[in-house]
Amino acid sequence: MRIEEQTKLDYSDVLIRPKRSTLTSRKEVVLDRTFTFYHSPKTWTGIPIMSANMATCGTFGMAKILAPLKIITTFHKYYSVSDFEKFFQTFNNPDYVCYTLGIRDEDVAKIQEMQKKGLMKNFSFICIDVPNGYLQRFLESIRLIRQMFPEHILIAGNVVTNEMTEEIILAGADIVKIGIGPGSACTTRRMTGVGYPQLSAVIECADAAHGIANERGVGRIIADGGQQYISDIAKAFCAGADFNMCGSLFSGFDQSDGKLIEKDGKKFKEYFGSSSNKALEELYGKKDDHRASEGRYALIPYKGDINNFLQDLFGSLRSTGTYIGARQLREFPKRATFVKVNRQLTNYLEPYDTGE
Ligand code: 5GP
Repeated sequence: MRIEEQTKLDYSDVLIRPKRSTLTSRKEVVLDRTFTFYHSPKTWTGIPIMSANMATCGTFGMAKILAPLKIITTFHKYYSVSDFEKFFQTFNNPDYVCYTLGIRDEDVAKIQEMQKKGLMKNFSFICIDVPNGYLQRFLESIRLIRQMFPEHILIAGNVVTNEMTEEIILAGADIVKIGIGPGSACTTRRMTGVGYPQLSAVIECADAAHGIANERGVGRIIADGGQQYISDIAKAFCAGADFNMCGSLFSGFDQSDGKLIEKDGKKFKEYFGSSSNKALEELYGKKDDHRASEGRYALIPYKGDINNFLQDLFGSLRSTGTYIGARQLREFPKRATFVKVNRQLTNYLEPYDTGE
């Protein structure tokens, strides 16, 4: 047995140190990024934020709102081939939608059917998503999907360590999804004891991915889950994340799926982990006997119209840029210094809702 003595950090363990800046307004901070990739020949431009492939926010409705803003929606696995057929009759914006699959035979059969029907041309991104990216079988799936789709931008995860990030890129992925246990609906840490503090995982895996380069591009990563506040998205970009993927931050709105529930005079919306009993039983129609649920069902305070949140998101990220003197999102990691804190200095007063 071995203990790694160096303390690893979460988003809440740090703040971003302000720096002298020549920017005069936060409007000057550009949030668009343009990426090339290690395998895919595509070039992508947009705001590198993704709505997670979960039942409440990886939806067709979300894609219609986010795609015009150049934000990506990663669709959940519960849509059928005919659902996609219908949706793509009226939606055409491949750069901002991502198809998700697992590594089971039926997942491969479904993507083959999607391809046969010509539906995969509607996606620039494909995401192979498993809770545990350390399985040998996962690498075989990445090789297979890369062979089937040489042009698509291939995402694969989740892992949290540098050596596996490198291996996944070399197996055929363009982007590695980072995060085991930080998700707000995730119980992996509690159920299995496995995990890695998310900020350190992002820093270490970004470093590993960016070190893999060819004439086309470098390896990339997504910081997936655990962003409780918009500032955590900024911290992930400062830590070197190329993309941020968020579930709970994109849920709880009028436009998110999940029932609206009233409790003690307050409004909530449902939010549930992809491997929660609720998701497995209601959306997938079954729960394997050997499989413990590593996700939970939760209620999110109702947040109203998502458009207000999106304005806050863009405004706050630009504001972080002005505080650290970064004119572009891609300068965040170069300009940022983190300070380790004992306790986050947040407002101690509860916001007062006047009900207006
Ligand atoms: P959040 O933004 O809510 O903190 O985290 C979203 C992320 O949590 C997702 O993108 C996914 O990686 C992870 N996640 C979603 N559902 C589950 C689940 O049921 N179990 C686990 N272990 N992780 C989940």
